[in-house]
Amino acid sequence: MSTLQEQIVAQTLLWQQELTAVNNHQQLEELRIKFLGKKGSIQGLFEQLGSCSLEEKRMCGPLLNALKNECEKGTKEKKIHLAASTSEHHATFDVTAYTPGQLEGSLHPYTHFITEVQNIFLSMGFELLDGPEVETDYHNFTALNIPADHPARDMYDTFWLNSPGMLMRTHTSTVQMRAMKEKKLPLAGICTGRVFRHEAVDASHDHTFFQCEGILIDKNVTLANLFGVIEEFLRALFGSDTLTIRTRPGFFPFVEPGVEIDMQCPFCTTGCSTCKKTRWIEVFPGGMIHPNVLKEAGIDPTVYSGFAFGFGLTRLAMLRYGIKDIRMLSNGKVQFLKRFT
Ligand SMILES: [Zn+2]
Repeated sequence: MSTLQEQIVAQTLLWQQELTAVNNHQQLEELRIKFLGKKGSIQGLFEQLGSCSLEEKRMCGPLLNALKNECEKGTKEKKIHLAASTSEHHATFDVTAYTPGQLEGSLHPYTHFITEVQNIFLSMGFELLDGPEVETDYHNFTALNIPADHPARDMYDTFWLNSPGMLMRTHTSTVQMRAMKEKKLPLAGICTGRVFRHEAVDASHDHTFFQCEGILIDKNVTLANLFGVIEEFLRALFGSDTLTIRTRPGFFPFVEPGVEIDMQCPFCTTGCSTCKKTRWIEVFPGGMIHPNVLKEAGIDPTVYSGFAFGFGLTRLAMLRYGIKDIRMLSNGKVQFLKRFT
């Protein structure tokens, strides 16, 4: 029997000859199996190579690999050639052929933004909290110091469900009570998620949008901690070391005292359309968790204190991306979404 090297050379010549003679896809496939199949000639040569001396392996290994590559490349090129030739043009469809102009997929801008917000809070030691979107009246209102007859319930245009006492959560504050009852203190966590309001949809309102809720409970927590966390968060989000906040008193039934936090406009120095020429943008309601809410969760308000804040992720995403119409974030228009690839 001839040496392995001779066999490789012979197979190479044979391949070239037979490939030239191929006229259709069936012949090409038969030829491919003959050379490249599991029981094909190239596999046979590789098996022989296994029992060769080291010196022969060094010499024949690269030759054999080159033959295999030539067969693979030749098969591919012949396939394209056959598909392009007029005789078979209509009969074949090459699924591996290159098609120009394919659209590239990407994450939704909401996903980008929420991940960024979560990462900033995670870097500050907060953990991620979660809760259901279909909620009970208890977690959405009563547990947050908003009993059935409380006028603050009118602030929320609620989607009530047919099952009594069930609703679509109107804010992510619903996770507060769940977290306080389930987790150990000290506790620092945020929840990002969808919330629902029975609102007419226009450029600045949607029935479904995203919020972020944050809580931190420990001994000796004060409003100063809240302001520090919010300022750090906004600086990281807008990439500014000097961005500041200002605070005003605000009323929310589940905090006492309650505050409204404004951030300095990150887009201008003298006033612009985003800040309505005021240099400040209203963003964060928050405050110290009401003692009634702590008591409801079984936490002693004389020992522990905590702050809570909640903000519209959707609104902040619109500010960040310069989006003027809230509907752009949910209508799935490809032209818009392409900006985020
Ligand atoms: Zn501005």
